Amino acid sequence: MKVPNLELKLAYDELREELNEAVLRVCASGWYIGGEEVAAFERDFASYCEADHCVGVANGLDALHVALQAMDVGPGDEVIVSSNSYIATLLAVSRVGASPILVEPDPATHNLDPARVEAAITPRTKVLLPTHLYGQPADLDPLLSLARKHGLRLLEDAAQAHGARYRGQRIGSHGDAVAWSFYPSKNLGAMGDAGAVTTNNPELAERIRVIGNYGSAVRYVNREKGVNSRLDPVQAAVLAVKLRYLDEWNARRQSISLAYSSRMQGLGLELPFVPDWASPVWHLYVVQTGRRSSLQDHLHAHGIGTQIHYPIPPHLQEAYRDLNLRPGSFPIAERLAGTVLSLPIGPQMTAAQADAVVEAVASWARANAA
Ligand SMILES: *Cc1c(COP(=O)(O)O)cnc(C)c1O
Repeated sequence: MKVPNLELKLAYDELREELNEAVLRVCASGWYIGGEEVAAFERDFASYCEADHCVGVANGLDALHVALQAMDVGPGDEVIVSSNSYIATLLAVSRVGASPILVEPDPATHNLDPARVEAAITPRTKVLLPTHLYGQPADLDPLLSLARKHGLRLLEDAAQAHGARYRGQRIGSHGDAVAWSFYPSKNLGAMGDAGAVTTNNPELAERIRVIGNYGSAVRYVNREKGVNSRLDPVQAAVLAVKLRYLDEWNARRQSISLAYSSRMQGLGLELPFVPDWASPVWHLYVVQTGRRSSLQDHLHAHGIGTQIHYPIPPHLQEAYRDLNLRPGSFPIAERLAGTVLSLPIGPQMTAAQADAVVEAVASWARANAA
């Protein structure tokens, strides 16, 4: 049985009629920037996230960038990020001219370790920017306390966490602002690029909207040097349809994760750890092993697609050679990069496919033990 890592076409197939209707409705409307489709999705998504405001933008990187600009982060400022995030989190900080300050993750959760954050705070620190990696919420309460104590803002990178809850409350308004990506493979994915910022702060929401529209609230009157980053109405219409299925599709991911976690005990893999305050949405199901390439080859030979999120940590990327950080500077992030493997998971994956993955991992473990 073939088990691709993720099959996006199946999501379209499942909702084909509703999606076709939504896209054609926008085509026929004659309204191709902003408008009611965008406003309706922003309302729906804000309410889904338990946030007061949602501002659509063009993609997840822009969501982070525009939020940082709205928080007046710029040259000379420092933003604390996890050494174990996707590079976009750092790139957004660099794009406003600020410096990303890396702090190691908790090796159990793979997310920014609040216990290590305070030592990294300096008079230049403006923002704490945790990522909810793999759909697992970061530990927000201690980060919120640190932000309050030191007068910092908290911005969350929630690109992988649509629908996740931290201590019972949806990700979307714990921090000052929350940045979202609707890249097609995310839990809530568009059919192209799209993103958003949610917040309970009305001034921040207004500022983000203005920055994303060339720094202009009134046509041809430009308050500040903004960018062009708007949520496309075709994508908004698609997202409004898919949002109605998000909880059901996240529940399907959850049942695959439960099958994996219960049936892959004792096979020599480190399985995901879920703290009692976390309700993750299983964007990825990530295991760890020191024998990763052997496992990956074995699964590949059985028709099972895997991926590595991520093989090179940001501080060792050529793009960040100016940080002058050598191998060994962030050992936890580096060890994760060398051992993590993402098994197939997705809302259209069948129980039989999950069984096939478990069987193949078990046969690898048997071959290893022999
Ligand atoms: C996908 C992703 C982004 C960037 O989103 P785009 O829409 O591709 O710009 C940022 N951060 C994380 C953690 C992501 O997974």
